[in-house]
Amino acid sequence: MLVCKFGGSSLADAEQFKKVKEIILADKNRRYVIPSAPGKRGDGDEKVTDLLYEAAAARQVGSPFLHILERIRYRYERIAQDLQLDVPLEAEFTKIASTMMTGASRDYAASRGEYLNGLLLAEYLGFPFVDADRVIRFDKNGLLLEEETNSLIADTLSSLPNAVIPGFYGADEEGNIHTFSRGGSDISGALVARAVNADVYENWTDVTGFRMADPRIVPDAQYISSMTYRELRELSYMGASVLHEEAIFPVRRAGIPTNIRNTNDPKHPGTMIRHNADRQANEHIITGIAGHKGFSIITVEKDLMNSESGFGRRVLEAVEECGLNFEHLPTGIDTMCVVLNEKELRPHREQLVQRIVELTHPDSVTIHDHLALIATVGRGMVRNYGTAARLFSAISAQGISIRIIDQGSSELNIIVGVDEDDFDKAVKAIYDAFVRV
Ligand code: ASP
Repeated sequence: MLVCKFGGSSLADAEQFKKVKEIILADKNRRYVIPSAPGKRGDGDEKVTDLLYEAAAARQVGSPFLHILERIRYRYERIAQDLQLDVPLEAEFTKIASTMMTGASRDYAASRGEYLNGLLLAEYLGFPFVDADRVIRFDKNGLLLEEETNSLIADTLSSLPNAVIPGFYGADEEGNIHTFSRGGSDISGALVARAVNADVYENWTDVTGFRMADPRIVPDAQYISSMTYRELRELSYMGASVLHEEAIFPVRRAGIPTNIRNTNDPKHPGTMIRHNADRQANEHIITGIAGHKGFSIITVEKDLMNSESGFGRRVLEAVEECGLNFEHLPTGIDTMCVVLNEKELRPHREQLVQRIVELTHPDSVTIHDHLALIATVGRGMVRNYGTAARLFSAISAQGISIRIIDQGSSELNIIVGVDEDDFDKAVKAIYDAFVRV
């Protein structure tokens, strides 16, 4: 059995709805469907969710917001008319307006995008509509109650051969609506996939899976046909964004693969993400390259640091006292480096340096800004000799100097830090060295 989540651009208008129906009808195993709210129909268009947030913000400050709801209604009405669907949109919008008027939360407003799209899609597919407020359970602070949710979905869907369950939101015990963070329909889909023990969680979007590098840097970057959840974690942490970061956990734990597919190119198999992926499945040693700019590196130097017990702990204590998270921790014999997010560090720079000095009495503390980190990820790297050498020589052949190197102990990735100005050039060089050979 397959659980299918469709993103906003896959359901942005009637034409897209038709493609979705074709996809669902093409395989009767596609039984449970999780829609997003209508997204952009092209450049310059608006996402319904953004409009709903705009309406909620206007209402909160006492400004008119009904005209924004009208714009949203028009989007749904066009879809309903084009597909000749009989959904009481007028009554729904009257209810949304009056609920917002009486002080409904921002989350309530935002969730209506998925709710209404769910109603339309259920009608269009002829599937029952199961409101997410019945099956996705949050606590009153908006924290997902995963086990409760799992039982609720499993119980509710066990008697339904198919259903449409809107993404992005759920409710607490008292019926108050809560949403996930932006892009959270991916999480809803993963929760449903886990609860019904799907064979595959299909995540339908407008790209044909993950690419080996950001196409804004490497325009013809190849698609990744297969990868592991661990590789995906590494790549998305470093910037590859196709799937919501939290969407992998429910399915990964349950051993369910996630398949990223393109609604506009349904024949393409997309990217399959599994717990264990076949080593031979990819043509190249590396799976992908990801990274981003905006890091700072703090270098603490002290002679004989290596024989001073508790030195590292004290440096990290200073980092923690400033409320900062560190990204990496490359260390040498007499030096220790802490890589931090530059923007987060900014308001705490002086305090942090001062605390490090007080706690560790170092010979020097220096901060180097404008660092970019690049992760080269691949489960195949561990088996291959010379991967690191190839990576470093590719970068140095471009005259780029490497500021830091960090190889995860899993040997799943090698991270290098370069100056921000060298970022694109370094990514291209790594791609060329491993893919264009
Ligand atoms: N519609 C919501 C958003 O735009 C959630 C989603 O699409 O996953 O963030």
